[in-house]
Amino acid sequence: MRIAKLADTAAYKSLKKDIESGMIGHAYMVISPDGVARKQFLKLAAASIMCDKGGCLACSLCKRVLERNHLDVKFYDITTKMTVEQAISIIEDTHTAILEGGRKLYLLDNCENMDLRVQNKFLKTYEEPNPNVTIFMAVTNENSMLRTINSRAKKLYINPFSSEELVQELMSLGVDKKSAEIAAAYSQGSMEKAEKMAENSEYQELFSIVFDILLSLKNSKQIVDFLPNRIFDKENINTTLDFMEIILSDVLILSSKAEIGLKIINRDFDLETIAEGFSAAGAAMAILAINEARTRLYYNINAVSVTERLLFDILEARYKWQ
Ligand SMILES: [Zn+2]
Repeated sequence: MRIAKLADTAAYKSLKKDIESGMIGHAYMVISPDGVARKQFLKLAAASIMCDKGGCLACSLCKRVLERNHLDVKFYDITTKMTVEQAISIIEDTHTAILEGGRKLYLLDNCENMDLRVQNKFLKTYEEPNPNVTIFMAVTNENSMLRTINSRAKKLYINPFSSEELVQELMSLGVDKKSAEIAAAYSQGSMEKAEKMAENSEYQELFSIVFDILLSLKNSKQIVDFLPNRIFDKENINTTLDFMEIILSDVLILSSKAEIGLKIINRDFDLETIAEGFSAAGAAMAILAINEARTRLYYNINAVSVTERLLFDILEARYKWQ
């Protein structure tokens, strides 16, 4: 994902206001389950604070921030549990002199991996901040952080991206249009999920097979032919269920004539024909059946039995709720 894309977000606009009014806070919490968006946001935030032009992304200062070569900008990705000693060394560092002039920035991602003792250490730094030090804590979910930390940080929520935005971003990264559209539909607004999926052509194949089965499923005699398909194998069935849910959610939108954007924006996929087979209630029942299938898998019922039951339930939803 291009960093500049994050400049359109409400989270960035809120930070930008603080920078432009000279009121940069000492503690921000960046909140998003999307790991790619979070990391890019932290880089953009740091460049915007350090750059004389407010984050042009082109000058040598910006470049050094983005390449992690600026002496006063420190990134920490807390992928494993942070120890109290590590926390203390970061906190001590916040008391050292500014090397390049201006401000020192600490950008910490995946802060949910800080346990309560570590969070308590940081709390003190939050309460008595050093002037000209700003700490960004990025988390998937703010509830993983102490309430006292939550209340002292200014919150910056990065909202999920629309399917159109994700498609545009993926295509700018060189992904072809059809793959980008499938990935965007699947990723629920997350650039992290969309990128992962766009990199893997296996997903696109699975999606097409799932779509074709829903398109052609008309009577119970077909079910036995569909069962051996690899999309229902143990290793694929969870993805298959996610795909079915995306498709049937769009079918529900179409058959209820709701004015909500569809997730599947690629017109190569003939959603309308599937939608002709389902009333809105039928589509809703079929989505419920998918959730029941997930529950059965959770209780270790084998994938073949789960699939057989699911396909029967989808057919029943189709014909019983006309
Ligand atoms: Zn710059």
